[in-house]
Amino acid sequence: MKVVFLDIKASYSELKNELDAAYQRVANSGWYILGEEVEAFETEFATYCGAKHCIGVGNGLDALHLILRAYGIGTGDEVIVPANTYIATWLAVSHTGATPVPVEPNEQTYNIDATVIEAAITKQTKAIMPVHLYGQPADMEPILEIARHYNLKVIEDAAQAHGATYKGKRTGSLGDAAGFSFYPGKNLGALGDGGAVVTNDDALAEKVRVLRNYGSKVKYHNETQGFNSRLDPLQAAFLRVKLKYLDTWNKRRQKIAQQYQEGLADTPGIILPFVPEWAEPVWHLFVIRSQRRDELQQKLGDANISTMIHYPIPPHLQPAYANMKKGNFPISEAIHREILSLPMFPQLAPPEIEQVISSVLNVF
Ligand SMILES: *Cc1c(COP(=O)(O)O)cnc(C)c1O
Repeated sequence: MKVVFLDIKASYSELKNELDAAYQRVANSGWYILGEEVEAFETEFATYCGAKHCIGVGNGLDALHLILRAYGIGTGDEVIVPANTYIATWLAVSHTGATPVPVEPNEQTYNIDATVIEAAITKQTKAIMPVHLYGQPADMEPILEIARHYNLKVIEDAAQAHGATYKGKRTGSLGDAAGFSFYPGKNLGALGDGGAVVTNDDALAEKVRVLRNYGSKVKYHNETQGFNSRLDPLQAAFLRVKLKYLDTWNKRRQKIAQQYQEGLADTPGIILPFVPEWAEPVWHLFVIRSQRRDELQQKLGDANISTMIHYPIPPHLQPAYANMKKGNFPISEAIHREILSLPMFPQLAPPEIEQVISSVLNVF
């Protein structure tokens, strides 16, 4: 039996009737940019996150970029980011003209280590951008405390964590603002690109609304030099269908994670994901760690099991950030050398999970 890493079409097949109906509704409405469908999704997703505002944008990168812009962050400013993240977190900062200042992750959670943030703060620091990596919420309380003390914004990169909770509160409602991605493979995924800004900050919400639409509140009246980054009504309609299933599908991911955790418990040579008692993760990815990662991936491949690495190269070692020195982030670099993502998606069946588990155990 072949086990795929992610069967993206399975989520369409499962909801085909409802998604097809959503397509028909939008196509027949004759309204293809912003409008009621986008507004309805924005209201529903803000409510889901437990926040006041949601603004639909073109993708997750734009969501983060527009938040930073709307807070007036730009050239000469610094934003603290995790060294261990997808490059989009950094790019959002760089695109404003500001500098991403990376800090190392916590060894157990792989998320930003709040205890080393303070050492990275300078007079130029304007914000901290924790990432809820792999669907595991970052430890927000100490981060918010540091931010209050130094008067910094806290911007959540929630692109992998739709529905995850920290001390009972959903991601998207924890900081000053949050950026979500609806890239098809995310826990809440569109059938194309999409993203959203979620916030309780009225002024920020207003600014992002204007920035995403050419800097214009009234058509052909431009207050600022804005962007074109709008969530499509068609994607909004698909997302409204899938939002209804998000909790159910996150629960399935949780069960899969549990099966992995139990099946692989106490295996020498591999480190399983660690879940702090204050976190309820949504398992965007199930990431194990091993010093024999490359061999493990090879052998699983031989056994017809596809795995992936999230991510093989940290941002500071990418040619895109060639100005940064190697070796400054040893924890991050070690994580990148040793992590492996096992198959994870809501339609993954228990016998497939069992096969992954036995194939991993065969290697160790
Ligand atoms: C997916 C992702 C993004 C960017 O989202 P896009 O919609 O692809 O632009 C940002 N940050 C993280 C952590 C992500 O995983």
